[in-house]
Amino acid sequence: MQKEGFCYSFNPKKCEVCKGKCCTGESGYIWITPAEMITLANHLGINVDEFRLKYLDKFGTKFSIKEKIFKDGFACIFFNEMDLNCSVYDYRPKQCRTFPFWDYFKENYEELEEECIGVKRL
Ligand code: SF4
Ligand code: SF4
Repeated sequence: MQKEGFCYSFNPKKCEVCKGKCCTGESGYIWITPAEMITLANHLGINVDEFRLKYLDKFGTKFSIKEKIFKDGFACIFFNEMDLNCSVYDYRPKQCRTFPFWDYFKENYEELEEECIGVKRL
């Protein structure tokens, strides 16, 4: 898989071997939009207020999905520790859907290469 403007390709099949490195490790922000909150809250069968309280942290005007302790670091609260994958995969936010094709990695490919075994420089 390739995307215009990026100097690397991505093979999603590698995710089966990797088992969620991009959902675990160092702490980070997992931004979620109001529309995505509604989608995910509906999927979980709770209202948005309850969803925010239980699963999100607020930073200024933005919301990020909470993390939990996992191994020597952290994992997204929706990371399934048994199956080592995303428990809300079909409802995950855009930030997760667009990984590893983030503008940030256009200038920081080496950083991405260390994290994601699915990428390959073109
Ligand atoms: S780090 Fe890369 S290979 Fe691993 S699960 Fe995430 S996208 Fe897939
Ligand atoms: S929502 Fe799913 S894909 Fe996104 S960081 Fe959490 S576990 Fe990973």
